[in-house]
Amino acid sequence: MAVCRGQMAAFHGMGPGASAPPQPAFFPTAAAASAAQGHGQARGQADVEPDRPIGYGAFGVVWSVTDPRDGKRVALKKMPNVFQNLVSCKRVFRELRMLCFFKHDNVLSALDILQPPPLNFFEEIYVVTELLQSDLHKIIVSPQPLSSDHVKVFLYQILRGLKYLHSAGILHRDIKPGNLLVNSNCILKICDFGLARTEEPDEYKHMTQEVVTQYYRSPELLMGTKHYSQSIDVWSVGCIFAELLGRRILFQAQSPIQQLELITDLLGTPSLEDMRTACDGAKAHMLRQAHKPPALASLYTLSSQATHEAVHLLCRMLVFNPDKRISCADALTHPYLDEGRLRYHTCMCKCCYNTPQGRQYTSDFEPISRQLFDCTWEDSLHSVHMVKEELHRFIGERQRGNKVPLCINPQSAAFKSFATSSVAQPAELPPSPVAWE
Ligand SMILES: [Zn+2]
Repeated sequence: MAVCRGQMAAFHGMGPGASAPPQPAFFPTAAAASAAQGHGQARGQADVEPDRPIGYGAFGVVWSVTDPRDGKRVALKKMPNVFQNLVSCKRVFRELRMLCFFKHDNVLSALDILQPPPLNFFEEIYVVTELLQSDLHKIIVSPQPLSSDHVKVFLYQILRGLKYLHSAGILHRDIKPGNLLVNSNCILKICDFGLARTEEPDEYKHMTQEVVTQYYRSPELLMGTKHYSQSIDVWSVGCIFAELLGRRILFQAQSPIQQLELITDLLGTPSLEDMRTACDGAKAHMLRQAHKPPALASLYTLSSQATHEAVHLLCRMLVFNPDKRISCADALTHPYLDEGRLRYHTCMCKCCYNTPQGRQYTSDFEPISRQLFDCTWEDSLHSVHMVKEELHRFIGERQRGNKVPLCINPQSAAFKSFATSSVAQPAELPPSPVAWE
């Protein structure tokens, strides 16, 4: 399977740093350190790659560090300023619970949480996750050629991870190439759950519109819908699929209004039924515009890889009406992916194995979550202090009986940067939606 083995070496960006001090960002807690040494797990620091920042998400800072227990490189995410207000600390708690809940090849999950200080000093949270060398944004803008197999294996894994998230009742709400981590074997994992939430079954309940980075934002969000579903994520995947084929952003507009214009340039003016959930101001705006015919045939010009099947699947994702948009589960069975599904699955799964009689395949190539992600715990938390206590207890319980617990190393260079880093620049957050009325 060429696409899985060493094909993406150019995407490595992980050469050892120049001459940073080799102080690790974190280490086993004092009591546990001697135990670790007793088991011969502690490593000399000479061969430890220095810690370094690798990214800044919407709600945190991520570092590449070495786990002192086994010498493995891992990602360490700092969630800063957690307890500023009730909304922000509930959001962080939700993200942390999600990271601990996920069990899927294509979804990033928590390997560990660093031991927090006593409650009175508890201000920030450090989460350890797997480290992946690159992300889809870096790959798309790189000069590295992408074969048709590459595009398919990435799309397959995005849909496979999202199918799992959606089956757990979760909307990601910020699917974009930068939130799709990729390693050198082409394994892809969805990350950054800072904006994720559970589905809202009650169609009359309002949901926040300040979600999804503009280029990947679905037309219903752009038109001010008060309630939306998992299909907003599928729209984002459609935009990314086109971006993989064309190696450029599909709808790259300067403003949310222009974003909607670029979308209707391609899909044509929507019918009134397809704008059913739009707010009145947005509908009026659309009806004032000259009528546009659809121009979907232009998708064939994205790339020579834009085959009939590719364009057909793309057109099933980029549907104006969210109720008519394809689901992740159905997209996975589309002929465009169906032919390579077994290969793509087996090059990244841990569920299939070899026996003397031959390879034993799983009965379920794209598993769903066995349970819904429960968010009822949020309802009983009414103050920052309550969330703080509950979070502290949650982390403590997670660590019981676990590996040697780790805590942050205040002497490390990484810690000093961590200490001064707060949240992302405002420009990195999704912009506010249009005020239509
Ligand atoms: Zn398998």
